[in-house]
Amino acid sequence: MTHLAGRQPVETPLVELRQVARTFGRGRAAMVALHEVGCTVLQGDRIAITGPSGSGKTTLLHLIAGLDKPTAGEVRWPEFGGNPLDHPGEVGLVFQGASLLPALDVLENVALPLLLADRPYGEAVTRARAALEQAEIAELAQRLPEELSGGQAQRVAVARALAPAPRLIAADEPTGRLDTRHALAVVDLLVRAAGELGATLLLATHDPRMAERLDRCWEMRDGTLNEVTA
Ligand code: ADP
Ligand code: MG
Repeated sequence: MTHLAGRQPVETPLVELRQVARTFGRGRAAMVALHEVGCTVLQGDRIAITGPSGSGKTTLLHLIAGLDKPTAGEVRWPEFGGNPLDHPGEVGLVFQGASLLPALDVLENVALPLLLADRPYGEAVTRARAALEQAEIAELAQRLPEELSGGQAQRVAVARALAPAPRLIAADEPTGRLDTRHALAVVDLLVRAAGELGATLLLATHDPRMAERLDRCWEMRDGTLNEVTA
């Protein structure tokens, strides 16, 4: 028996937001995208961020991933020891909208974050191929982005996010251009991959059927966050 026997283990949060606000623009043109949001992401969480278009999902996701800075309040990443984007390969991002580099083929697009994280070329290509297999799009490896459908491009973006084996996966409407069957397959792929990697998953979606596949649900409304309990 240690002196800690009987105590609940205290888990270090992966990300903590305290009274975080984000305003775009100034003066009369100022647009408040987030109002004093407080929330905690624990390791291994699988959180859906839901809410209608314009409610602040992308803004929240970017602040959590370290891509953007709050206008007020504080974002902390205790487990990463600072902004996780300073540690290449630790965050896997799936952006809303097109994000593949048009001059690179699919395999090169997926390998790029690994090369930027200083992984050797051979390892980057091997991992990129494995991520394409995992996303069931190995046959697209040599295509250019302009030769892909919107849905195929979204799957490539998901493979690119998974390839470096990140600790945090932040996916912004990764199924917006897919039909329901393919959309559910992509969400299930993200959930399965997060489980296999021991990664934390945040997924913004306006589709409640996608949100149901995750364990927690945060609902955004006009820049405020509410946790919805099932
Ligand atoms: P969602 O992802 O839920 O659609 P966003 O986070 O993209 O919502 O946007 C929230 C609000 O902030 C919207 O009203 C949007 O127009 C505004 N907004 C987002 N990004 C910017 C920006 N770069 N400049 C000005 N307004 C922005
Ligand atoms: Mg958005």
